[in-house]
Amino acid sequence: MNTKQKKKKKKKKKKKKLEVILVCYHGNLAKLNTSWFNDNPGRRFFGCKKFGSGFQKLCRFFSWFDTPLTSRSQIVLLGLLKKVRTFENARRRERKT
Ligand SMILES: [Zn+2]
Repeated sequence: MNTKQKKKKKKKKKKKKLEVILVCYHGNLAKLNTSWFNDNPGRRFFGCKKFGSGFQKLCRFFSWFDTPLTSRSQIVLLGLLKKVRTFENARRRERKT
């Protein structure tokens, strides 16, 4: 039987992480951003490096990194975000007075 031999074999190969290099239409490396829009809270996406910088022309490169949220987790996340924002607003009001 070969079972003993099989058990002795150690996995020497390290599992390489799947690396995907995405390049936007500018030819720059795409940047991983996190969406905080209500449709996709906390979902990560690759976008143009200049995304959100407000300078120079953006290209329309866009690619989701995370899989879509289930409707359940979306509801939970939105509920939590709402709480955070409520607390933040309350703190701001406290500072002012
Ligand atoms: Zn770009």
